[in-house]
Amino acid sequence: MRFAKRVEELPPYLFVGISRAIAAKKAEGIDVISFGIGDPDIPTPDAVLNRLETALRTPAHHRYPESEGLPEFREAVSGFYSRRFGVELDPATEAINLIGAKEGIAHASLCFIDPGDTALIPDPAYPVYEIGTMFAGGASHFVPLKAENGWLPRLDEIPTDVARAAKVLWLNYPNNPTGATATLDFFNEAVRFAKEFDIALLHDACYTEVTYDGYVAPSILQAEGARDIAMEFHSLSKTANMTGWRVGMAVGNSEMINALMRVKSNIDSGLSQAIQEMGIEALNLSTDWIHQNNEIYRKRRDRVVATLNEIGINAVAPKAGLYIWVPIPAGYTSAEFAQKLLDERNVVVTPGNGYGPAGEGYIRLSLTIPDELIDEGVSRLSGLDLG
Ligand SMILES: *Cc1c(COP(=O)(O)O)cnc(C)c1O
Repeated sequence: MRFAKRVEELPPYLFVGISRAIAAKKAEGIDVISFGIGDPDIPTPDAVLNRLETALRTPAHHRYPESEGLPEFREAVSGFYSRRFGVELDPATEAINLIGAKEGIAHASLCFIDPGDTALIPDPAYPVYEIGTMFAGGASHFVPLKAENGWLPRLDEIPTDVARAAKVLWLNYPNNPTGATATLDFFNEAVRFAKEFDIALLHDACYTEVTYDGYVAPSILQAEGARDIAMEFHSLSKTANMTGWRVGMAVGNSEMINALMRVKSNIDSGLSQAIQEMGIEALNLSTDWIHQNNEIYRKRRDRVVATLNEIGINAVAPKAGLYIWVPIPAGYTSAEFAQKLLDERNVVVTPGNGYGPAGEGYIRLSLTIPDELIDEGVSRLSGLDLG
């Protein structure tokens, strides 16, 4: 049997190795504390679950959904964008549902990338931008994110010939894995850049609602002229503790949305309508609920950051997202340091180079484990001798 190159060349999914390391320790009878995977431990809110209970008895929901989603779902998306960002979307043409943002992100490359085309991909980044590009036959040109630039790409440093050739630029703020945020000024610059070089601007906005200390994250659609060239991906996974339900949305330029809808309609048959109803409820969660949910993460963030600082690791509390991104002590690679934490402390973290070569020298700690496990993880770390 001969597999396609896209399968042969596929790197192992980042978290597969982590899951294996955890399983190996468990087999030895050792309980590890995992700061590895970003997957909210807090339950889906009751209001959202209650909505499913009635939705599942609705016979219309037992049939194929429309690819673009229920009009009511798209209206709820439009209402959320209006209230939250002051962006007015036409629910009929500027919003579609996704089977989680990851699905839309992976399929988006099929809308823009032909074999041999170039995509501008941040490094480090969520791996799906690069893999989607590869599946479409494209090549990734990596744009480094650096601490000294606040983990924002220097668009002015992208060589002109590369920018001319590129068909898409991926961005993600608030950022996974670095925890960085972008200003509306930066988004304005990104839109100008995309327009100058006729590049589709694709923004992954999964963490705009997971914010701390009064920080309010912008949507790229607030930027001047963004509607001409940009599509934004959003998810209820992190906002409303719904990773297991798979519900997200794409919004923005109507031609881009239409292209994604056409691609999707040939691959999947839409998102279960009962789950779309859950999504509608989640899009209407009160700001109080969101604030209280974020407070749980903020307390965890502060505990983890304080402990890391105590043992001599220079951690800064992020204003958004679910991750602490920290430089590791001199003398280790990311993988070696992650291994040391596992061997000596039975603590799992993600090595930064898993998100791209520019992540070397960093590790990522996720805040999505229950408070008591955070406490246990923190106490295991606090004795660590970095010698
Ligand atoms: C979690 C995550 C996603 C995936 O969201 P789903 O809606 O669960 O598919 C997308 N992008 C980033 C950066 C993420 O961290």
